[in-house]
Amino acid sequence: MNVERMTIIGAGTMGTGIAQVAAQAGIAVTLLDSSAEAFERSRALLGRSLQGGIDREKLTEAQAAEVRERIAWSHGWDALADADWVIEAVFEDLEVKREVLGRAGEIAAAAAVIASNTSTLPISALAEMSGRPERFIGMHFFNPAPAMKLVEVIPGDRTPPEVTEAAVALCERMGKEPKVSPDIPGFFVNRAFGALLSAAIDIWLQGADPETIDGAMELGLGHKMGPLATADLVGLDVCLALLESLHEQTGHARFEVAPELPAMVAAGKLGRKSGEGFYRYGE
Ligand code: NAD
Repeated sequence: MNVERMTIIGAGTMGTGIAQVAAQAGIAVTLLDSSAEAFERSRALLGRSLQGGIDREKLTEAQAAEVRERIAWSHGWDALADADWVIEAVFEDLEVKREVLGRAGEIAAAAAVIASNTSTLPISALAEMSGRPERFIGMHFFNPAPAMKLVEVIPGDRTPPEVTEAAVALCERMGKEPKVSPDIPGFFVNRAFGALLSAAIDIWLQGADPETIDGAMELGLGHKMGPLATADLVGLDVCLALLESLHEQTGHARFEVAPELPAMVAAGKLGRKSGEGFYRYGE
């Protein structure tokens, strides 16, 4: 499948990052969003990201200018009609996704594929909401999308092999390393991270300090960053939502949330972004 035009619904953190990655691969991208403020934030985020790429000598000024030229921002849903590939990156809320995917399924060309960037919702259920489960797939990018190599590609139960192959090829064209995942709660990374974080919190509650737990995990498992420092980086509110979703969807005890985690979130200890989580951060 030749992808020349992509429309991304949701010009937030992920939508903007994915737009940059696609534009760098030569694809013309339209970012669609219902909010005008989102466009201001999106343009500023893209600008910072491109400047960071120039500063680190990953991009030239000319390449950054080309990327800017390939990206448009629109409030009009007709932007979907001529897209070969649509990526949905709106809020992680089933009802919001239901509305957006239903509309996208009606407007997008019959041959176009719709992909969802959901982190936790079942792809087969989202596929049905689009009304075109045979042209639907999950493509889970990681934040920040321009830097992170992994994309989890998740076929739903009615996604044909050629759509999975097209999604894998598209990821590779965008310089990513796709891994095809079963449609299970958390896919690969969030599922394994949820279990590891839950175990690390359990060890912390037995009296070990975060530095020692993370240090042991880094040395013993060869991870670059231990689970508690990773949780602080991701945000403890996001981690709490992840564990609650995994527990609700699977019922597995390994995803049970210790009451200390919601207590930290309620107290405003959200990790790096609030200055304190499992660790304290300077100004
Ligand atoms: P975000 O809040 O930064 O952006 C979401 C955007 O969707 C907002 O700009 C909002 O205005 C827009 N939106 C909401 N409802 C809409 C509608 N009905 N029509 C058009 N636009 C609408 O969110 P994000 O962090 O970019 O996450 C987006 C998706 O990506 C979620 O499904 C999330 O789970 C997933 N995800 C997030 C991360 C992450 O680290 N942030 C990583 C991987 C996947």
